[in-house]
Amino acid sequence: MTMVFTQSIQHLIREDEPLSGFTWARVGGAAKYFAEPGTQPELAQILSEAAAAGIPARIVGEGANILVRDAGYDGLVISLKAAEFSKVSIKDNVLTAGAGASLSQVVSASAGAGLAGIEYLAGIPGTFGGALVCNASVKNGDLGCRVTHVVAIEADGKSITLGSDQLRFGFQRSNLDGRFVIEAALQLETVDSAELTRRMQSSWIVKRAAQPASGQRALQAFVEPDGMSLSDVLEQSGVQGLNEGEISLSKQYPGYLVFSGEVKADEIIKFVQRVTTKVEAATGIRLHCPIKIW
Ligand SMILES: Cc1cc2nc3c(=O)[nH]c(=O)nc-3n(C[C@H](O)[C@H](O)[C@H](O)COP(=O)(O)OP(=O)(O)OC[C@H]3O[C@@H](n4cnc5c(N)ncnc54)[C@H](O)[C@@H]3O)c2cc1C
Repeated sequence: MTMVFTQSIQHLIREDEPLSGFTWARVGGAAKYFAEPGTQPELAQILSEAAAAGIPARIVGEGANILVRDAGYDGLVISLKAAEFSKVSIKDNVLTAGAGASLSQVVSASAGAGLAGIEYLAGIPGTFGGALVCNASVKNGDLGCRVTHVVAIEADGKSITLGSDQLRFGFQRSNLDGRFVIEAALQLETVDSAELTRRMQSSWIVKRAAQPASGQRALQAFVEPDGMSLSDVLEQSGVQGLNEGEISLSKQYPGYLVFSGEVKADEIIKFVQRVTTKVEAATGIRLHCPIKIW
């Protein structure tokens, strides 16, 4: 490590850090380097030194949408858990939050301030940064449509502000993949706070009933195909509830994979491929898997 990172930041970096504990699936190998910067200048320095040494880098959020391969990640993984990256502030109708804040913290802050626009995202696990990059979405809306700008750190350590004209959001996808997002602002609307709390609570209840409980090892492997019920498509294809070893395509929560015991990332990847192939053969529909494979 001495050769790669200068001494002033070496205390922020660990080597061969197991990543499974940073993900909901709790599988996969280690990161060659793992860093938890406490400040933006530290993050900038880590990124620019990694780039200068030719080391690829990625940010891990809550790991709700990541599957780390068994061989691990031969690069630098950065966590933005430090307080500096998790601040949430509100001025007029604009909410600004750090990428390390949890999405639920951001949703609660907006509801607490009587600001509507993201209450339907209640119950989606992850950080604000992960939710921006993966464009956290439900049937009736997404995070991206509220974003006015995003602040990211470039590989050379400089910060860049991306305005809405430079941002692209689709259902559970964005053009922020591969960037290092540290902050974003959302334009929200003032509404009656009792009505807003009711909407947020009802979204939360619906969401919680439709997904595996927090703490259960799970991934959302398939999303609703355009204009169709995912549950119907899986049922017609005979894969609803499919189980192979320790991997199941949940019957109770359509589209979610749940795991138990020893399971390898490569087995999960093959399982997803088999389901995708079976569904396509049975219905002609190519399902989209939103999981980021590292
Ligand atoms: C039970 C369950 C239910 C879910 N339900 C939904 C749902 O209803 N709707 C939905 O849209 N998604 C859903 N998901 C998927 C997941 O919650 C979202 O994709 C979430 O936004 C991921 O956030 P994260 O912090 O966990 O990101 P991670 O999984 O940690 O990372 C995902 C990707 O984002 C990148 N990333 C994270 N933070 C940053 C950053 N600051 N800068 C740059 N890149 C970054 C990572 O490098 C990675 O490529 C669900 C997942 C689970 C397990």
